Amino acid sequence: MVVVMSPDATDEDVAHVVERVEGVGGEAFVSKGVVRTIIGLVGDIESFHHLNLRTLRGVADVHRISDPYKLVSRQHHSERSTVWVGPPGGQVPVGPDAFTFIAGPCAVETADQTFEAARMAQSAGATILRGGAFKPRTSPYAFQGLGVAGLEILAGVREATGMPVVTEIVDARDVDVVAEHADMLQIGTRNMANFGLLQAVGGCGKPVLLKRGMTATIEEWLMAAEYIAQRGNLDVVLCERGIRTFEPATRNTLDISAIPVVQATSHLPIIVDPSHAAGRKDLVVPLSRAAIAVGADGVIVDVHPDPETALCDGPQALLGSDLRALAQAVRRLPGAVGRVGAGDLATGRRSGS
Ligand code: PEP
Ligand code: MN
Repeated sequence: MVVVMSPDATDEDVAHVVERVEGVGGEAFVSKGVVRTIIGLVGDIESFHHLNLRTLRGVADVHRISDPYKLVSRQHHSERSTVWVGPPGGQVPVGPDAFTFIAGPCAVETADQTFEAARMAQSAGATILRGGAFKPRTSPYAFQGLGVAGLEILAGVREATGMPVVTEIVDARDVDVVAEHADMLQIGTRNMANFGLLQAVGGCGKPVLLKRGMTATIEEWLMAAEYIAQRGNLDVVLCERGIRTFEPATRNTLDISAIPVVQATSHLPIIVDPSHAAGRKDLVVPLSRAAIAVGADGVIVDVHPDPETALCDGPQALLGSDLRALAQAVRRLPGAVGRVGAGDLATGRRSGS
């Protein structure tokens, strides 16, 4: 932490800051410039916060140098992490050594629709199935999801296909029932800053897919991940799904630069959701290619056997030639950027444990 004194600060003002810092066990290094004095602080940052240094006479500004997150930071864990999703013997990795392809319906509507979407996803090369049973909708009149009945459908499809399942949780009271039916719990964009929910999934014992809040900075997103990690769950995968900008051509603006930025600052894996970023199926393949090229650890996309009748997000659901183009991209492109492709995942599977 660095304290910047104002040009008119006196020697007494500087001495007072030093005294307060040393009073909580810290060290203060004073550097006098021609116009300003700055003081470098070394020690426990939390105890410095309690000093309210900005309120002291002569203090112009206080800057933090280290990351505010710890458990998810690369400063404390330099190797990038792999999160394993699925039951023992059928786990799929999400991390730097493989490219993970996740696909499925936006919402679980019926058993047939979910099964058919899973079949489409699996034959395109996806190894994890997505599907929402609890849907956080902007309108209270829109389809809210089948709830527990939807979780049961997902569990049945998981059983039949062998694909681990990721599904969204919107209420901390549902942690046990969602964790019982799914292999990974998703926190959606609207709940990224629901700290009670983050703490609840931190104790669930299953991996978590943490989407970026649509108006969250990268630092706020990593602080949300820190809430989960702080409860003992470091199996967190981040998901960039687009942010709100002034541009109306797409539903959200995919912040492609967030991927290398996150990878430089956090050890957690990061994947991209081009479906929810764009809101239109014609952009899903190009954005997936961009995600692979920039080094994302995977993609998660919507597929639906009959988008015209979809109860949620039909315009962005893939089928037919779009899905074939995506399948080709996730099979071929990861190799071109120096990582194991989605098609090679079977060999990357961890057995046992
Ligand atoms: C979803 O994945 O179904 C979803 C609602 O995504 P997001 O939270 O990113 O809008
Ligand atoms: Mn959706």
